[in-house]
Amino acid sequence: MESHSRSKALIDLEKLNTLNPEGCPACGRKFELGELVVLACGNWEGECYIHEDEATFDRKTSAYYEQRYYETMKERSS
Ligand SMILES: [Zn+2]
Repeated sequence: MESHSRSKALIDLEKLNTLNPEGCPACGRKFELGELVVLACGNWEGECYIHEDEATFDRKTSAYYEQRYYETMKERSS
């Protein structure tokens, strides 16, 4: 429960400056002020902030995953 909310954030100026040189690793777009983002695992190293609607929350691991990455992961394990 706690880790769930810790992974969520709103884009503020500080995050905008930190994240926008790279943009969102899931869709490649730049972030905008006030957008909801989550720390998610995906086809990249560690956890990165991506748009909330591009992430799936996995209850088993209590973590967010990028949607396509999550589906691939599930297919592999079944
Ligand atoms: Zn995105």
